[in-house]
Amino acid sequence: MQKADILIIGAGPAGASAASFAAKAGLSVILADKAVFPRDKICGDGVGVGSQELLWRMGAYYKVMAKKPWPIDTMIVSAPNNRVMEGRDLPGESRPIDPGFVIPRKTFDQVLFNHAAGFDSVETVEGFTAQGLVEDRGRVTGVYGRYKGRPLTLSGRVIVGADGAHSKIAKSLGLYNNNPKHRIFALRAYYQNVAHADHSIQIHYENSIIPGYGWIFHTGPQTANVGAGVILRYTPARELPRIFDAFLKNNPFAIKKLANAKMVKGSFAGWPIPCGSFSSKRSCGSVLLTGDAGSFVDNLTGEGIYYALGTGELAARAAAFVIKRGINPQNAGANYEWLWRRRYLWKDFIPAYILQGLWSKRPVINWVINRAAHNQRLAFTLCSSIAHLKPKARLLFPF
Ligand SMILES: Cc1cc2nc3c(=O)[nH]c(=O)nc-3n(C[C@H](O)[C@H](O)[C@H](O)COP(=O)(O)OP(=O)(O)OC[C@H]3O[C@@H](n4cnc5c(N)ncnc54)[C@H](O)[C@@H]3O)c2cc1C
Repeated sequence: MQKADILIIGAGPAGASAASFAAKAGLSVILADKAVFPRDKICGDGVGVGSQELLWRMGAYYKVMAKKPWPIDTMIVSAPNNRVMEGRDLPGESRPIDPGFVIPRKTFDQVLFNHAAGFDSVETVEGFTAQGLVEDRGRVTGVYGRYKGRPLTLSGRVIVGADGAHSKIAKSLGLYNNNPKHRIFALRAYYQNVAHADHSIQIHYENSIIPGYGWIFHTGPQTANVGAGVILRYTPARELPRIFDAFLKNNPFAIKKLANAKMVKGSFAGWPIPCGSFSSKRSCGSVLLTGDAGSFVDNLTGEGIYYALGTGELAARAAAFVIKRGINPQNAGANYEWLWRRRYLWKDFIPAYILQGLWSKRPVINWVINRAAHNQRLAFTLCSSIAHLKPKARLLFPF
């Protein structure tokens, strides 16, 4: 039986972040994942501006940049009436941190995993599939699962669920978010031979998708991640393949960029996106849920990497708070609840939920994009709010 100060289940961005920050705080860490890295993760691969600061604080920023991700300098958003807004830096506006980029998750997650594994106090266990929580006198002391075909139990004083959108840890606690009001479903495919390379990320509120959007994110000069997502309170997930097809056939940007493109075999796949727009607990005693496991994704944009990295940091902080001060680990949850609510709930998730409702209506999107198409400052404000450079609530009052 292996034991550490903090046991982290799942080594995606949330788990790698929790492990790195916990190690920096002087805690011993077990970081376990059912996969063996490198592994793919179905995603749009867009890493937003806000994530750069977290990567920097983790100490992983230059390791990611060494992989030469595709840099982003413009956000193109099209409306159902085909009006187009282009958001980019305004002359004279300072940019406090580096711009976002696109990087296939297979590469990105491998870099973060290696980074976390590089700390002396981090022990990694690849190929461990968590199955449930181990309890002793009403307290959770570990996680049981299968490792190389055999049962294995891992223990920690604080336990972090970072095991993604189908989280076993969240289900074991009865905190799994399965509410269609707070869930998106999206699918993506990689394309080769994509034309007109640029450094934009493209978001298209295409008629066939709304409520929801399609995207085209270049991953390189001739390659792109193309996808579409729908909000499950409006559209069932089974509709998505048809909707995606209609997006490719009808959207002028998709038609132009993908005219001679070929889908990479086996890359067409979907995955749920659990959103952060409800205030229920994301922890129980010494067990803390992070990233998708804790349902920390922006309702409006589907951005989850930023929140996975951020909640990983907060979980490490809550764990260090109790362990370093000799406080009962059962109190880590209370500290974590306070930290994530203060950082995200009213600042990001609640405005995003309201905006998701507004942006499900064609006339609203047409009106806003039409105005932003004529007004560079408005386009800049909209993009800055999405990129966490201005408060998200600014999107509710952009004019
Ligand atoms: C189609 C799509 C497009 C998206 N596009 C973007 C985007 O462009 N930008 C963005 O910021 N966000 C995007 N998101 C959201 C983003 O992918 C997630 O929010 C993010 O991956 C969450 O990170 P995580 O570490 O919480 O979970 P994950 O990245 O899912 O990692 C979870 C880890 O847990 C492991 N695991 C799972 N179950 C177990 C188990 N039982 N035992 C042990 N280990 C387990 C998995 O192997 C995995 O490594 C998108 C999502 C989808 C579905």
